[in-house]
Amino acid sequence: MVQNVTLTDFFAMNIRLTDLLNLPGVAVESCHFSQDSVSFQLRVLTKGTYCPHCRNYTEELHQTRPILVRDVPVDSKEVYLKLPRRQFYCRVCQRYITERLQFIDWRRRYTQRYEEKIYSQVNRCNIEQISQQQHLRIEQVKNIFNHISQKRNKQHLEFSQKSYCYER
Ligand SMILES: [Zn+2]
Repeated sequence: MVQNVTLTDFFAMNIRLTDLLNLPGVAVESCHFSQDSVSFQLRVLTKGTYCPHCRNYTEELHQTRPILVRDVPVDSKEVYLKLPRRQFYCRVCQRYITERLQFIDWRRRYTQRYEEKIYSQVNRCNIEQISQQQHLRIEQVKNIFNHISQKRNKQHLEFSQKSYCYER
């Protein structure tokens, strides 16, 4: 461990790591290096969220659960993000709402950029190879590939429906 690290150095280092990580709306609080992986403890920058049902802004935090999300590797090390999954209460709808983060699809345990990376690798290499390299199970690789394919098909469909509307 590095000796004589002042608090200012520590904060400067975390700001630098946040920049390097380049994910919107979160900051690095701490990081942990091991021989073949790096994990980042992240903090969500906003205090509250907008209700997806009525667009009301709420800061009424109901509960927070820690989740672990896989991200793109750095220097061939596996990268994991430790994030809070926050649930808020919306007074208007009287419902509990789970916050959605921009860089993770709903209920996924990988960042979008990691899933995109795996998807493009599946198009080039075989699934067994990727499974071994990434330490993912074959089913996990297939699941990521299917998720991205479905997402792309959906986006393509929405786009063609839009252009159909414009044409009319
Ligand atoms: Zn609401």
